[in-house]
Amino acid sequence: MNSWGEGFDRPLIIAGPCSAETEDQLYETAKALSKSGVKIIRAGVWKPRTRPNSFEGMGLEALKWIRDIKQELNVKFAVEVGNPQHVQEALYHKIDILWIGARSTVNPFTVQEIADSLKGVDIPVLIKNPINPDPSLWIGAIERLYLTGITKIGAIHRGFSTFNKTRFRNPPQWKIPIDLKKTFPDIPLICDPSHIAGDRNMIFEISQKAADLDFDGLMIEVHKDPDSAWSDAKQQVTPAKFEDILQKIKFRDPTSENKEFISHLEELREKIDHLDQELYEVLSERMKLVDQIGFYKRDNNVTVFQKNRWKEISDSREQWAKNLGLNVEFMEELFKMIHQASIRRQEVIMNREEAEEEASNE
Ligand code: PEP
Ligand code: MN
Repeated sequence: MNSWGEGFDRPLIIAGPCSAETEDQLYETAKALSKSGVKIIRAGVWKPRTRPNSFEGMGLEALKWIRDIKQELNVKFAVEVGNPQHVQEALYHKIDILWIGARSTVNPFTVQEIADSLKGVDIPVLIKNPINPDPSLWIGAIERLYLTGITKIGAIHRGFSTFNKTRFRNPPQWKIPIDLKKTFPDIPLICDPSHIAGDRNMIFEISQKAADLDFDGLMIEVHKDPDSAWSDAKQQVTPAKFEDILQKIKFRDPTSENKEFISHLEELREKIDHLDQELYEVLSERMKLVDQIGFYKRDNNVTVFQKNRWKEISDSREQWAKNLGLNVEFMEELFKMIHQASIRRQEVIMNREEAEEEASNE
């Protein structure tokens, strides 16, 4: 049992469009989701856009559509609030669940203002992780809401911004939400695979991982026509695809031992991914240098392969392998491949010049 009490369905499923765009888009999406058994619809009404002059949400107009759709379909609605005025308008329009977005969680002033505007109201509030991987900001936001008197709080893991190119839009760092759950064992932990992925093809895989890590729920972006969405088009799925994903996810009941194991494994895998990425980056830098040397050799009429240099290279690399405790034969083989690939690149550079010369002689 968590702090939400008896009424909490596990897994807690929240689905709906990134943004409420038109009454028809919201109604059709919500209707299809409700048919699949979804009881809580999400919809962005005010959109925190990174750059100005993007679509910033339909505001009050959307709240009116929501009020009508709630009645018609008998569903609950969750919306993001970014300031006290949003809170006031959302409460006035009987929104059931509020959430604080990643761009607000980073700012203690904003979180405090939202918390203050909720004094005396007990509405469930979900708090997304801050955009940067600072667990204290997330913890601080939860504490501010608790101190206000909110009793039903949930935490949403939506991944963290990064400058590195990764296959995720906001790479997850599973250890952070799992540690948060240790600090606040009664808080339901929800995963938002849509903002983690940024790509609809990865929603299932991330959702399954969250289920394996014993998350209590999912928030997934669903749009009746994702490709024409006004925000986050690439990561939204159709209601049919959503139903398919949800049916495929196995919500297991892991033992606590199992959970620890998965979480630790995940942590180690994240480190490996990071190191592999660095390895690739180093190789790419190396190839750029190889090309530079290739051009230099070409312009000075020097052969690509030079015996002395190769001897020097293999001796030093063998010594490095020994010093670093690496298998010498394996490293020799690996390095030969790297060296051969480098020579091939330089040969291409040399031959390109010959071809250019021939062409100019014709
Ligand atoms: C959203 O849920 O549409 C949203 C803006 O998410 P986040 O705060 O995680 O970026
Ligand atoms: Mn979105």
